[in-house]
Amino acid sequence: MTRGLRLLVIGKQGSGKGTLCTSFSQHFGIPHISTGDALRSAVAQQTKVGLEAKSYMDVGKLVPDELVMRIVDELFVANDLLNRGFLFDGFPRTTHQADLLDALIAPEGIDAVIDLEVATDIVVERLSSRRVCTNPECGAIYSLSAPPKVKWICDLCGSPVSQRQDDTVEKILQRLADYEEMTAPLISRYETAGKLVRVEAKGTPDEVFSLALGQLVARAIVPEVSST
Ligand code: AMP
Repeated sequence: MTRGLRLLVIGKQGSGKGTLCTSFSQHFGIPHISTGDALRSAVAQQTKVGLEAKSYMDVGKLVPDELVMRIVDELFVANDLLNRGFLFDGFPRTTHQADLLDALIAPEGIDAVIDLEVATDIVVERLSSRRVCTNPECGAIYSLSAPPKVKWICDLCGSPVSQRQDDTVEKILQRLADYEEMTAPLISRYETAGKLVRVEAKGTPDEVFSLALGQLVARAIVPEVSST
């Protein structure tokens, strides 16, 4: 295969998609593409898409597919994703987005979809204590129990670290309800297509990384040598 690996990471908000994608991106040398980060950056830059997306994001609702796809189309071109491969974090989140992604990457399609499985009470607890670096180029993740070394200043880039606007309990519950209704159906779609890799995501980031990598190796999606 001359093109890069094509992976999707799906799972409830707070299941650790961003953390796993950061590690996998370094490990495999393929771009980590978070539609949430791209949308937050569009909001911060007050682009046309950002201005339209903001009202949905502010209340913890999914942004309409048409706006998301405008961002995704731009990301494909800007990062040469068809050739370099990708790790999509938080995309697709609806059946329609999955159809449009399939059309974009036909005829080869994706290599695997990692579903990070974790109980709802654990993710509510994780998300309400999550704190993130406000620099969209960095986005490092902390929590009340694992804060930065200097009080709420990012260890990596020195920007302020704060709670995401949609990480309040009310908005978390709204986002999880949308997940069940609109995103969870993708699990059976990818399972039927033989692409689904289920990974139990309640351990530490290193444990989840090893489990996920082990599954990809066991299914011959990546060669064993990649795990060393
Ligand atoms: P995330 O950082 O992945 O939790 O995304 C933050 C917010 O961005 C979500 O609550 C949605 O409002 C929006 N968003 C991100 N990705 C998508 C997507 N694929 N479809 C619709 N909305 C999205």
